[in-house]
Amino acid sequence: MKLGERRVSGIAASPGVAVAAAWQPRRDPTAALGSLTADEDAVRDAFASVANALLRLGAEMRTKGLDEEAAILTAESAIARDEELLNTVVSAMAAGVPAGTAIQRAGEEFAALLESLESVYLRERAADIRQVVRRALLVLAGEHDNAPPPKPFVMMDADVGPVDLLEVADQGLVGAVSLRGGVNAHAAIVARSLGIPLLVGIDPAELAIADGCDVVLDADRAVLVIDPSRVARADADRRVAEASSRRERFALERDLAPETADGRRVVLSCNVASAPEVAIGLAARVSGVGLLRTELPFLNAQVWPTESLHRQTLTPVFAQLDDVPVAVRLMDFSNDKVPPFLTRGLEGLDALLDNPDALRAQLAAVLDVGRRARTAIMLPMVRRPEQVSAVRAELRVMAHRIGVPEPRLGIMVELPEAVENAESLAQVSDFFSLGTNDLTAAVLGLSRADQGARPALAAHPKVLACVVATCAAASAGGISVSVCGDAGGDPLVLPLLLAAGVRNFSVSPARVDEVRYRIRRISLSDWTSRLGEILRLADAEAVWRYVETAGAS
Ligand code: PEP
Ligand code: MG
Repeated sequence: MKLGERRVSGIAASPGVAVAAAWQPRRDPTAALGSLTADEDAVRDAFASVANALLRLGAEMRTKGLDEEAAILTAESAIARDEELLNTVVSAMAAGVPAGTAIQRAGEEFAALLESLESVYLRERAADIRQVVRRALLVLAGEHDNAPPPKPFVMMDADVGPVDLLEVADQGLVGAVSLRGGVNAHAAIVARSLGIPLLVGIDPAELAIADGCDVVLDADRAVLVIDPSRVARADADRRVAEASSRRERFALERDLAPETADGRRVVLSCNVASAPEVAIGLAARVSGVGLLRTELPFLNAQVWPTESLHRQTLTPVFAQLDDVPVAVRLMDFSNDKVPPFLTRGLEGLDALLDNPDALRAQLAAVLDVGRRARTAIMLPMVRRPEQVSAVRAELRVMAHRIGVPEPRLGIMVELPEAVENAESLAQVSDFFSLGTNDLTAAVLGLSRADQGARPALAAHPKVLACVVATCAAASAGGISVSVCGDAGGDPLVLPLLLAAGVRNFSVSPARVDEVRYRIRRISLSDWTSRLGEILRLADAEAVWRYVETAGAS
């Protein structure tokens, strides 16, 4: 039934406009499907159909050379044929339990059993059981197993996470809408990385209405238009075309040097967490990866990831990075990225240092998989020099064991304590990278999840003063300093970071062309001479006005 155009406003977390069909992934059917009824034959058919589908997908992966993925799918297919699992389901049904509940209970029982075992390998298979059970329930409910989204599509969900976007990044995803999340949350960072619009703060009832409808997702005007009129659609189509010609204009300068209008050379890298982002960055001719976020694939993990899980997630990323500089940031489980098993524990680097086996597992995988690139290790949430020395000791031993040269070890300066200790940290670090996302939030007393926290706030004089101090400490210590927070990609902040002394930027892959284009139009000497005046302004708004008036945005 057509209801006519409906407009819903939200908060723009990643800019842009998209016109597509809305698609709500069916992520957790477990609760809803418990009451499903079916007979034994239907249950057996559902599991057999899952097993066959997994086998087919596994064979497809193998022909693409993705052997590890193929092995996982084959193992899951074997679970779907497991007689013991099926018999447990069937006997519960014989005792009067509805098929849906019987499947859920048997799945949980088998998964819990595996989770209680010593062997890390077997513990990891618990997740495979849950996947198989979930798929069988979907088949039984008449849903298509893994129903593919339409193409192109806008993802809609109450809680769109970074991994939800990455999983379907190359399947026609052109935008996303979520109830929860903020501009500085990691889903927003990934959306900006992929160059797709994201709108947050949308009422779940509206999400349900939109499912399956055509929508205009207009993050530039912070509105979602459900069932757009012909006029609204034509306007959106025109703006999509304009954005694409703007991108083409920026891309024309891809092969020109990233240097300021007055000839100061700048290094331009990109931030990634997945293979599709690497491809976007390389196409835009980055010099390397300035931040590889390694924690995003594990945000729902029940235990610390093992070495083999790290290998699985790193391999596709490094496959494209032969001989390229890559700064691998060790897992940063903090703020909006704390997995269930850490909810009451330490966060960030402290959590890793408190779990040396987890640290070693990650170092072993990074050093081995990363040997094809020019890999450096980067530490998140550093406060004190002793933390860096502790990791360096582990790194030295692991590099020796794996048989690779000891990589450079740098740190993220993203906490006020790190800025205070910048001089002593420069003595034990090989490079600094300013994490303006966390630093801005900490200096201005905001939460990362705050819907008002955004990259442009790094223009606040208090934050800029931290950048100036960090650059001075790096220069005194003879080490380089980059910015890998999202402020580097913000037109209002970019000239200020250059003026403060930053010559090395790592930005979202989708922003690389634009940042290069802007750098080439900024006069470093003009902005350096304005810096003193800017640092005396009252707040971020005053700085934005100044920058706009000076004509840099
Ligand atoms: C930052 O804090 O600026 C940063 C780059 O790290 P993350 O966004 O992953 O916390
Ligand atoms: Mg950070």
